[in-house]
Amino acid sequence: MATHSVCEECKRRGSACVLVAHGTPCLGPVTQAGCGAICPAYNRGCYGCFGPKETPNAPALSEHLLAAGMAPEADLLTRLYRTFNAAARAFAEERPPAMTDATRTIDG
Ligand code: SF4
Ligand code: SF4
Repeated sequence: MATHSVCEECKRRGSACVLVAHGTPCLGPVTQAGCGAICPAYNRGCYGCFGPKETPNAPALSEHLLAAGMAPEADLLTRLYRTFNAAARAFAEERPPAMTDATRTIDG
């Protein structure tokens, strides 16, 4: 069974990275390959339906998404990990860091 991430399939497929090109949150970097990266091919972020890859670095992805303003509220980021495979350890245990001043909304 493949142990790489959806990102590798995405690059092999030649799809544009929705995270970089459109600022769309994407769980591809921490998700198990196998689907052919179909969601990014249709301009959607990966929702992690294949579950976490073997050695996912969810904290690093969370920090990147928050710092880039792609998940302006930590709650949104938490929900991103709690859709498919919410019980998978790497997703269930991911607790996005508290919002920093840079990622606070005007109301926050
Ligand atoms: S779109 Fe998602 S899966 Fe594709 S390279 Fe970017 S982060 Fe990875
Ligand atoms: S949500 Fe599922 S089908 Fe879509 S890119 Fe991610 S792993 Fe593939």
